[in-house]
Amino acid sequence: EMPVQEYLTRSAKTFPDKTAIHFMGKDISYKELYESSLKFANYLKSLGVQKGDRVAIMLPNSPQSVIGYYGILYAGGIVVQTNPLYTERELQYQMKDSGAKIILAMDILYPRIMKVQQETDLENVIITGIKDYLPFPKNLIYPFIQKKQYGFSVKVEHRGMSHLFTEVMKVATPERIEVPFNFEEDLALLQYTGGTTGFPKGVMLTHKNLISNASMCEKWLYKIEKGEETVMGILPLFHVYGMTTVLILSVMQGNKMVLLPKFDVETALKTIDKQKPTIFPGAPTLYIGLLNHPDVSKYDLSSIKACVSGSAPLPVDVQDRFERVTGGKLVEGYGLTETSPITHANFLWDIDRVKGSIGVPWPDTEAAILSMETGEPVPAGEKGEIAIKGPQVMKGYWKRPEDTEMSFRDGWFLTGDIGYMDENGYFYIADRKKDMIIAGGFNIYPREVEEVLYEHDAVMECVVAGVPDPYRGETVKAYIVLKEGATVTEEELNKFCRQHLASFKVPRLYEFRTELPKTAIGKILRRTLIEEEKNKLK
Ligand code: ATP
Repeated sequence: EMPVQEYLTRSAKTFPDKTAIHFMGKDISYKELYESSLKFANYLKSLGVQKGDRVAIMLPNSPQSVIGYYGILYAGGIVVQTNPLYTERELQYQMKDSGAKIILAMDILYPRIMKVQQETDLENVIITGIKDYLPFPKNLIYPFIQKKQYGFSVKVEHRGMSHLFTEVMKVATPERIEVPFNFEEDLALLQYTGGTTGFPKGVMLTHKNLISNASMCEKWLYKIEKGEETVMGILPLFHVYGMTTVLILSVMQGNKMVLLPKFDVETALKTIDKQKPTIFPGAPTLYIGLLNHPDVSKYDLSSIKACVSGSAPLPVDVQDRFERVTGGKLVEGYGLTETSPITHANFLWDIDRVKGSIGVPWPDTEAAILSMETGEPVPAGEKGEIAIKGPQVMKGYWKRPEDTEMSFRDGWFLTGDIGYMDENGYFYIADRKKDMIIAGGFNIYPREVEEVLYEHDAVMECVVAGVPDPYRGETVKAYIVLKEGATVTEEELNKFCRQHLASFKVPRLYEFRTELPKTAIGKILRRTLIEEEKNKLK
């Protein structure tokens, strides 16, 4: 029952010289990561950070993002991860909501941060360079912005090459800070939900939540050799999925993480070819992107042994193709920010997987399907809301007691996802409560329609959404991205859908696009498409 950061302490003592992070040609050892994190912690302490203070990070995957993360925890703080792509409005909302006073951010984000500062509690901004994301390169330093000292109307001047991050590392010392910890109760993370269905909510995750979820990963990956694996770090660490399956798990086991600051298909392929990762947690859009690269066969992807795909439905066809190309296993998992995140996964080894299923509840996790009317468990095969009990379930939503209350019933956490369980205890996702389309009184699950479209040879990516319709209330619309060089007409797709779907489920509208709007983790933003449609009607 050690807090999250103590696993870094342990790995640094057990494997001081092993590589913790590989980043753009540089290796950083566990010892270096540990000492740098302690330095960062001491620096935060000198800025006044105390137990329970929220400190934000706004960085893509990089050594600095990891050092910042562990540094905040060693100082007794709570990490608030912020998406570097956030606009001013989103950033302001999150900073205000979390009450963070310090942010560690990428230099190019500085103007954006300055704009929101007045409306938030932000006092100190620690800046690090983006151009050369080497461990501690010539990072630009901007002067600390002391709210009280300067006021906000003062334009803060850039002091040139004062090398801030280097300076933090230079001036701070790596001694331990004694902070009392309560494993069960203390928050490690205030993680905002992906915002796929609405404004992100701050999810309070404790040390226990995160450690128990990473330990479940460990149990499930039992054929993986501790400390011997190389983990592909392409999922953003500012999202809880990457944080648990890449960061916390690697550090817990003493594995090597290969971090990539953004998803670029070609870089990803080259990195796999060269760095030979063995574990590759990802999301469907990542795997689809790699598979559809014209030169995919030129790269050696055979080092990959185990992948878990989460965050959105994994089309069966993608799973098959990816396994053929790599020779490894790719299974579907499921979870939410509120559950740190994983609650289900298909088996990786020995036991047969059931394709198209999210698998069975993880070790120490209970799951049920509850009737949306009565709240009682429903029989196998019947649809209802997926509910979870387990040590990974959040403490609640930050400053939103009503939302917290509404998301629990008799100790069950209600996921907002509709699904069912088969007779063997395997779970299936039908859809999110909020995404379900009601057209002319019929319930339609977009996922079912998407699965059919994905079977069509010309379709690379698609999303199905319920858009406003004067007669049916909502109607089914499909947004399609075609494979390179492929052509297909609306009529052809329609005919194809009619062969596989009841007519009320067949899309009435089709739109071809070159790309689809996505969240940072690659989830297709249905909400944005529906809003576009609503705006057209205005
Ligand atoms: P918000 O809750 O703010 O709308 P979000 O949905 O992106 O944002 P996350 O916590 O990142 O927030 O995502 C959790 C959701 O992702 C789940 O509730 C579920 O709908 C979806 N999901 C995760 N894994 C799968 C999967 N394997 N199949 C289908 N859906 C999945």
